[in-house]
Amino acid sequence: MHILRVKTTTREQLVDITREVETRLARSGKSEGICTLFVQHTTAGLTINENADPDVSRDILAALRTLVPNNGMGFRHGEGNSDAHVKSSLVGPSLAIPFSNGRLALGTWQGIYLCEFDGPRDRKVVLSIG
Ligand code: ZN
Repeated sequence: MHILRVKTTTREQLVDITREVETRLARSGKSEGICTLFVQHTTAGLTINENADPDVSRDILAALRTLVPNNGMGFRHGEGNSDAHVKSSLVGPSLAIPFSNGRLALGTWQGIYLCEFDGPRDRKVVLSIG
């Protein structure tokens, strides 16, 4: 098991962690299998989406913000970050990515993102290569 540490810099942010995951996979020396990623947080998540045009990340965050506004939904949670909890559940905490010949089987335009919804914070992604 490996731990990737990701430092986020704003309240909401999609951080491309594809290169870090590929580096850990290369170091593992394994050629075939499944790479599992998991965030140990309740206000962050993981997703795979386009990493060619940065506007895609921006639009995903804008859409989630429209679906789950920070205020005005009658949230009760005293911390005031219920929107972040809901967004993290919508996105989900884990990913499973197959790999072959030591390379992640990602599509041409796909990148792996840590989704920050209540930053800036230090986040941890658990990486299991099996
Ligand atoms: Zn909270």
